[in-house]
Amino acid sequence: MNKVTMDTIINYAKRYGFVFQGSEIYGGLANTWDYGPLGSELKKNIKDLFWKRFVQESPYNVGLDSSILLNPKTWEASGHIDSFNDPMIDCKQCNSRHRADHLVENHDETVLADAMSINELEDYIRKHNIACPNCGAKSFTPIRQFNLMFRTSQGVVDDSTQDIFLRPETAQGIFLNFRNIERTSRMKIPFGIVQIGKSFRNEITPGNFIFRTREFEQMELEFFCKPGTEKEWFAYWKDESRQFLLDIGIAEDNLRMTDHEESQLSHYSDATTDIEYRYPWGFDELWGIASRTDYDLSQHQAHSEENLEYHDQVENTRFIPYVIEPSLGVERLFLSVLHEGFSEETLENGETRVNMKLHPALAPYKVAVLPLIKKRHRDMALELHKRLSKHFMTTYDEAGKIGKRYRRQDAIGTPFAITIDDESKEDGTYTLRDKDTMEQKRLSETELIEFIKRNIQF
Ligand code: ATP
Repeated sequence: MNKVTMDTIINYAKRYGFVFQGSEIYGGLANTWDYGPLGSELKKNIKDLFWKRFVQESPYNVGLDSSILLNPKTWEASGHIDSFNDPMIDCKQCNSRHRADHLVENHDETVLADAMSINELEDYIRKHNIACPNCGAKSFTPIRQFNLMFRTSQGVVDDSTQDIFLRPETAQGIFLNFRNIERTSRMKIPFGIVQIGKSFRNEITPGNFIFRTREFEQMELEFFCKPGTEKEWFAYWKDESRQFLLDIGIAEDNLRMTDHEESQLSHYSDATTDIEYRYPWGFDELWGIASRTDYDLSQHQAHSEENLEYHDQVENTRFIPYVIEPSLGVERLFLSVLHEGFSEETLENGETRVNMKLHPALAPYKVAVLPLIKKRHRDMALELHKRLSKHFMTTYDEAGKIGKRYRRQDAIGTPFAITIDDESKEDGTYTLRDKDTMEQKRLSETELIEFIKRNIQF
């Protein structure tokens, strides 16, 4: 079991330029985070691998990039205006705000708090004498329902402005484009639409670093299938999703599939499974996979008065497709891969090193170019860096002892390092060092490009 703490990960992420506190020079803005040079690469790689697996290599799916701002009727139809609420409770003593369902779950994780009504939650908190996690007092306000959508307005003249919302999920943009895509791409059911993009939720209690924030990115698939086949596809996408996590290097032991009990299911869902990751505080949701029935398309058909039925030309039938939705947060996966990969090792010579074990396809840099002696090998190294950069993300470091430079690359997950020495000048070969095994071998430029390309494949 991985015992890496949250503090270790946060410090690591900041120290190496993966994640910084948002608006830091102004004292920050609570729960916002900025992704630095390494973090933005890692994030991009996560999204690229997701797209590769779920669009490029999928026989079923195509991509979409829809607007964040949607016609506000969307959110009436989807149910977000009426029911995208979390139960909020305040401590009377210190005024800290909490999610009532989380207070109950933290008290006893076997209780299905998200299936409880407001009254049941209030009763439970009173009966079990639950204390404020902030100050320990046991006196709370009544619970209020709090809508999580960010409201804003569009338009420049006061009387023509319109209240709109920042999307709380990317999914609805997909449903709004179902007909466009089905027609223009001539897709036949079953098929899916993938979207990656920002979502916004005014979370009551953001926290755990980048795990729960108010601005985040989702990678979602809405998979449209024939009514009656949804169970089969639900099982299929659960397997595919889990396999993706294993393939990018998450250990099986750190994953758990949790099925929602019937009483926990959202009003639109007939089955939901969360893939949970073992974060430093315990298992928690990484990826939600929901069978959404024909709820969304039916609702949009009713509210828009546009026909969203699918015409099955082979069987000459018309129906509203059923939908399976795997929905994954980019930042939650980002946190999982850093936590999974972080390790501290003692080497044979007694030195310690941080080894960030990332799948090479996820690594911010694939290779580091290091001149053995700055003065002597610099020009050649810079030339090589330039040529390698055409193939993959390459970094260059000439400062300090070679051992220290290796350590830095080990710590940021660079799978390979190349040193340039006198021999390179003579015969055009370089030393390629493997981060994990620390083995070295000499290769020509063509050989090393081939070797690296082969090894960073996903
Ligand atoms: P939770 O129970 O943790 O609030 P949820 O069940 O509301 O999550 P979904 O609506 O299923 O989450 O969203 C799908 C995915 O989007 C989640 O599995 C998670 O990876 C990601 N996600 C949701 N809310 C946030 C958030 N506030 N910050 C970061 N990622 C999020």
